[in-house]
Amino acid sequence: MSEILQAIRGMNDVLPVEAERWQEIDELLRDWLRAYAYRPVRLPLVEPTPLFARAIGAATDIVEKEMYSFTDSLNGEQLTLRPEGTAGCVRAALQHNLLYDGPKRLCYQGPMFRHERPQKGRYRQFHQVGVEALGFAGPDIDAEQIIMCRRLWDDLGLTEVRLEINCLGQTEERSRHRAELIAHLEAHAELLDADAKRRLHSNPLRILDSKNPAMQALIEAAPKLIDYLGEASLAHFAGVQTLLKDAGLNYRVNPRLVRGLDYYNLTVFEWIADSLGSQGTICAGGRYDGLFAQLGGKPAPACGFALGLERLLALTEEQGLFAGGAGAPEVYVVHQGEQAARFAFRVAEALRDANISVQLHCGGGSFKAQMKKADGSAAMLAAIIGDDEAAAQEVSLKPLREPAQQQRRVALDQLAAAVGELLFD
Ligand code: ATP
Ligand code: MG
Repeated sequence: MSEILQAIRGMNDVLPVEAERWQEIDELLRDWLRAYAYRPVRLPLVEPTPLFARAIGAATDIVEKEMYSFTDSLNGEQLTLRPEGTAGCVRAALQHNLLYDGPKRLCYQGPMFRHERPQKGRYRQFHQVGVEALGFAGPDIDAEQIIMCRRLWDDLGLTEVRLEINCLGQTEERSRHRAELIAHLEAHAELLDADAKRRLHSNPLRILDSKNPAMQALIEAAPKLIDYLGEASLAHFAGVQTLLKDAGLNYRVNPRLVRGLDYYNLTVFEWIADSLGSQGTICAGGRYDGLFAQLGGKPAPACGFALGLERLLALTEEQGLFAGGAGAPEVYVVHQGEQAARFAFRVAEALRDANISVQLHCGGGSFKAQMKKADGSAAMLAAIIGDDEAAAQEVSLKPLREPAQQQRRVALDQLAAAVGELLFD
């Protein structure tokens, strides 16, 4: 026998029970997005590589080393598996002129691909829910997006998720800060690690995000972007904070919070679950007013965030929420004999007509063996059909989990009502 092929490292299979937990959370997410009037879009997994280079920034981790890029062997085009969703969403908004009649609230979810070192909470194929408010300039939408996250944690029953926010200002403010930041870092060049040296002139703001303990004192003493912000940026930031306080949210202003993507300006935020350790950011986002123009379109302000679903699921699991297992059928149909087998099909369909989930035994076997399967399926009831029942157009209903309930025989036209009674009363 040849060797069994394995999935790519960092790209996970999600199997039953776990996949049911995903589904339960998906349903909750859908209601949550609707509650804030975000409308779904479905976008390609593959986009032209230049889209990400232009949107995310050439000197970012993602574009420098995390993208799955390849040449389309049929026409030579440079393509990339999407590492995030914002670039594609803005591309689609421009391509279809979605903002022609005003701002839009859009959302999507699906797999993203980054060539990272796989570890807990960090995968090469992972899933995000993305939320994008396109065409909105004021601090109200930033605050609403942050508040909406809080509601999701509440809906999920999550506790211990904390919020950090910062204001990145505008390009001119950042470039004044950047010049002084580089000067500060250059004055202590001997303390910089290789990564920081490499970033010094390409993306110095990212050095502030370094986790290297040896550099923390240097970073602590570095010029703070917030001291370079003008009146308008500070007013925007204050506006966001007023609304967060009105909503009773606790948060910390973290002046070192920067994001790994170049398109952000003004508000940035992260929701962090410390219990997940160094992969603790479950949700991150902010404003990206420059992105429309950067992608060649008419300028439009925008704000969005992305939720990492694997991390969110890990957190719900850690906190004992969403057990899964909802995929068990309600009724398992066992049958023996040719007439019974044909009648069993009618029985199963009649139950499904009444919205009851049914696993019809397929593949034969003795009653005893079939009852074992019924038991193993976690169904609440077995519907038993022998030749006798088939001839009378009846079914024996056997409760599998509630010893107090009696087995009983019911006619086909009474079946759904009888099952409903046993399941839901
Ligand atoms: P990190 O600092 O953890 O690398 P990031 O800044 O690269 O995160 P974003 O691009 O802002 O992350 O993505 C938003 C969210 O998507 C993250 O907060 C995280 O929850 C999730 N995420 C990002 N990369 C991965 C990954 N490789 N595996 C699993 N989830 C991820
Ligand atoms: Mg990253």
